[in-house]
Amino acid sequence: MTTCEKYKNLIEKYIEGTIIDGQLADLKTHAETCESCREEFERCVLLQDVVRQAFSSPMAAEHAGASLVARLSEEPNLRLRSTRFGTALFAGKRAAIAAGILLAIGLLLGFTIGRAGNPAQIPLTAQVPINVGKIDGTVLVRHEGSDVWRALEAGSNIYLGDTFHSTAGSAFALNLDGESTLELNQNSMLVLKLYNGQTQFFLEHGECTASLESPHGPFFISTPHGRVEALGTEFTVKVTDE
Ligand SMILES: [Zn+2]
Repeated sequence: MTTCEKYKNLIEKYIEGTIIDGQLADLKTHAETCESCREEFERCVLLQDVVRQAFSSPMAAEHAGASLVARLSEEPNLRLRSTRFGTALFAGKRAAIAAGILLAIGLLLGFTIGRAGNPAQIPLTAQVPINVGKIDGTVLVRHEGSDVWRALEAGSNIYLGDTFHSTAGSAFALNLDGESTLELNQNSMLVLKLYNGQTQFFLEHGECTASLESPHGPFFISTPHGRVEALGTEFTVKVTDE
């Protein structure tokens, strides 16, 4: 094996937590003079830091993926080696969440992450007649009951219970009945709750603007702080962290 392969293996051991002190010192010495190994080592340290924060914060585990994606999307220089991370960083019951996170990271960075085995298929809820309008940047969607985030595309089908996550600098619009639209601004998370004569979205955080054809059926946007009913034709709902 080449010198660098040896150090890449040490980096894997570092991720696994099985590296011994002598090897770590050796790795650090090599990283001082080898740019490729240094960059990879630094990325591993950063990723570990991000993952640790995601799992140690009081935020619900199901949202860890989204916040990790949001944070990583602000790190344009981050590049992951897919096969090295899949099994190394995570174990046990976090693996499913991690798989979703890794898939999302892979989407953002243009990788296809291989997944071990076949994850159980999630039965989809009802598809709804909503089309994806304009998309700027990277918007992710996750179906209800699934832990996998996929990139939202112009032709994507929309289902009840879908959660939409717009990353930093990204935005998109949903085309609803008639001429009505709902636009989600950057760094936002929105869930489609109801779409059956009554429309209900849940804005978990971020900002969305509804432009509704008049007259329109009952239209609500709920938030962690309360519920907004659309009485007029155009309004914006904003949820900030504090
Ligand atoms: Zn090297």
